[in-house]
Amino acid sequence: MSQVEAPTQAFIAGSWLETGRTFEVRTPIDRQVIAQVADCGPEEARRAADAAVEAFAAWKQATAYERAAVLRRWYELMMQHAEGLARTMTLEMGKPLREARAEVRYAAGFVEWYAEEAKRVYGEVVPSQFPHKRLLALKQPVGPVFAITPWNFPAAMITRKAAPALAAGCTVILKPAEQSPLTALYLAKLWEEAGGPPGTLQVLPAQDPVPLSEVLISDERIRKLTFTGSTEVGKLLYEKAARTMKRVSLELGGHAPFLIFEDADIEKAVEQAMIAKFRNIGQSCVAANRLYVHARIKDAFAEAYAARVRRMKVGNPLEEDTEVGPLVDERALEKVQAHVEDARKRGARVVAGGQVEGLTFHPTVLVDVAPEARILQEETFGPVAPILAFEDESEAIQYANRAPYGLAAYVWTRDLSRAWRVAEALEYGIVGVNDGVPSTPQAPFGGMKYSGVGREGGKWGLEEFLEVKYVSMALP
Ligand code: NAD
Repeated sequence: MSQVEAPTQAFIAGSWLETGRTFEVRTPIDRQVIAQVADCGPEEARRAADAAVEAFAAWKQATAYERAAVLRRWYELMMQHAEGLARTMTLEMGKPLREARAEVRYAAGFVEWYAEEAKRVYGEVVPSQFPHKRLLALKQPVGPVFAITPWNFPAAMITRKAAPALAAGCTVILKPAEQSPLTALYLAKLWEEAGGPPGTLQVLPAQDPVPLSEVLISDERIRKLTFTGSTEVGKLLYEKAARTMKRVSLELGGHAPFLIFEDADIEKAVEQAMIAKFRNIGQSCVAANRLYVHARIKDAFAEAYAARVRRMKVGNPLEEDTEVGPLVDERALEKVQAHVEDARKRGARVVAGGQVEGLTFHPTVLVDVAPEARILQEETFGPVAPILAFEDESEAIQYANRAPYGLAAYVWTRDLSRAWRVAEALEYGIVGVNDGVPSTPQAPFGGMKYSGVGREGGKWGLEEFLEVKYVSMALP
């Protein structure tokens, strides 16, 4: 155990193992080392692959009711350990404690939902044109899965993959982000306590993700790769996975537009744009990165928004009322600073925030941002909101769809016809209409264009871990 309640060894084939090598996990709060975690490489990857294959044979044969019972118990344990999980997340990646608590509920929500849905993996009987034939479409688990997750939602990004995979009858080898292995190991401990059989869920922390991933991606027995992270890495892994023809799901970067029309409820739009932008200190793939406001109300909106942003409580993320704490690491801070500096050089004005203390970048609002500024092209992944103007609906849609990404978009209007038109025209996998927080376990989550391939959540998330087997049966 480390300074937090989580284990620090790798979890392979149902055992907690030292690997002879460790790496440091440092908290962004004061950069102190909070744990030394077992470092896994190719050897551990091979061992885990063998165990995942062996465990798959039995896990896929277990009844859906048996799998559902383990998932349900896992959910209950996560809720019992909510405070420990939340503190672990806050310590390892710096999100405010109250947001970490909300993430535990969200993460556990996937486990609860898939515990129920495990029992509803139905096949179909297809009518035949011949009286003696019966055509059946059966659903079967795809096989052992390799999952790679990011640090920004250390619990939810894991359960959103592992819960449907395990419900479907797949086994999972998880490589968590090097910044946040402790939450992953904590979840594995709870899976063990819930009665998850050895080899069904394994966690392999690694300082360098490449050597271990190479082994698992090139292993033909691993039938699926599911990845959440940057578009850059996603593209690389997509190519590699093609060589063994794996099923692939990719949840990648985003650059969400937040459109506010002149008839919107401004007060609500301000409040929801606060959450959509500053949740997780802006380190979210669905973060509202470009606030486009109708020209007639832009100044009023910017003023109200900046006033609200200036009131945000900046501080230690372990304190109850903190809304903005440190960014995850130095590299993240440098990127945010570079984006703000670049926008400034091109004429942008900072109307709130802009200060830096340690790893904390104060929540910031920019106006007069030039269209070619980096902050409008690339994910900033930090607490900076650029406010821009549009003249009419078609211009708003054009601006919104300009990004190469297509994950989440938001629309604020009281006009129902416009809400439909704009929602349909946006090239995004998720659209929040007068809703800044659309994500929920039972709904499909995923992107178009450079934001990825496939969906997580709801029945769609389960399909990602199922094969369809067609059986044509002629009656003798
Ligand atoms: P990242 O791509 O650098 O890392 C993500 C994971 O991939 C980590 O576990 C990392 O160790 C691993 N990784 C990195 N290079 C690898 C390689 N060559 N081979 C194998 N594994 C490798 O991303 P990040 O900085 O950790 O996370 C932030 C990114 O994730 C942002 O772009 C964000 O938008 C995206 N994200 C997307 C979603 C979504 O659902 N679409 C959700 C959360 C985060």
